[in-house]
Amino acid sequence: MHIIKVDNLVKTYNTRRAVKGISFQVEEGEIFGIIGPNGAGKTTTIECIEGLKKSDTGSFIEVMGLNPEKHRKELYKHIGVQLQETSYPQFSKVKDIARTLEAFYDNALSYKELLKDFQLDDKANSYISNLSGGQRQRLSIALALINNPKIVFLDELTTGLDPQARRDMWEWVLKLKEQGRTVVLTTHYMEEAQYLCDRIAIIKDGEIVKLDSADNIVSSCNLTDKVVLKLQQSEEIENIKKYDYLEVEKDKNDNVIIKGDGEIALKVLEILSKEDIKYSDLKVIKPSLEDAYLNITNSREEVG
Ligand code: ADP
Repeated sequence: MHIIKVDNLVKTYNTRRAVKGISFQVEEGEIFGIIGPNGAGKTTTIECIEGLKKSDTGSFIEVMGLNPEKHRKELYKHIGVQLQETSYPQFSKVKDIARTLEAFYDNALSYKELLKDFQLDDKANSYISNLSGGQRQRLSIALALINNPKIVFLDELTTGLDPQARRDMWEWVLKLKEQGRTVVLTTHYMEEAQYLCDRIAIIKDGEIVKLDSADNIVSSCNLTDKVVLKLQQSEEIENIKKYDYLEVEKDKNDNVIIKGDGEIALKVLEILSKEDIKYSDLKVIKPSLEDAYLNITNSREEVG
């Protein structure tokens, strides 16, 4: 069952149409990702759904059966919005801001429990400015949950985090889903979208150009596998290049990368055997969401 319905969302700033008639639904309990280049309209779309921005006449948005513009107060009892760092008062302590937010809602969760859940209980007396990037992002999720929301919006949650802190964040996001919440997130990390999201909308120039699961998005692009290997004799690359239906190149680590249509791995193995080429470290690399994303967002034609 859908929990968010967006139909023909249009948003114009002055004369510029930033969002050009977007339609989609988010199902209850799913992690829904919105990805796309900078300026594509992701934040505008989310802010219209949250009722923070007013969409153009003719747009339809419903969140848990509520109109976000008309019923914003009611809606804010049910949605969790991650605050940007700049929204915190300067020099505030973790427990002060958490306590203030707790007092704000009638049915608030205990801030002490939330800080414990997010391994921040020993930071309650710390100034927010003294937290690490990962701790600050954990705090932003903890605070977004204080009203025990059904839907949580996370905007570029892991930007700027080191790889371990990012991975830790992913587990927190999966926990939100396990708790039965719906998550809508934006990210610039394709690996993150692939790992977390049940479905992903790719937005380009204010329009959805693809909406599907990561696997389906990748397979819809008909991208081919790549074969990567190392040659014992580097000049043997010429014996592969003479098969002109293959695309052959060398990277800076002396890996030979071979692309081509069809059963590329089989073809390459046949050639290696026929030409008696000695090689090592052969890998077949499947196309990733990042490959598909670049293919979709770089193409002139609108896809799908
Ligand atoms: P994204 O989140 O995908 O980077 P945004 O939704 O922030 O994209 O922006 C979409 C377009 O709308 C951009 O061209 C941006 O410059 C423009 N835009 C966003 N906010 C405003 C605003 N308050 N006033 C005017 N233009 C805006």
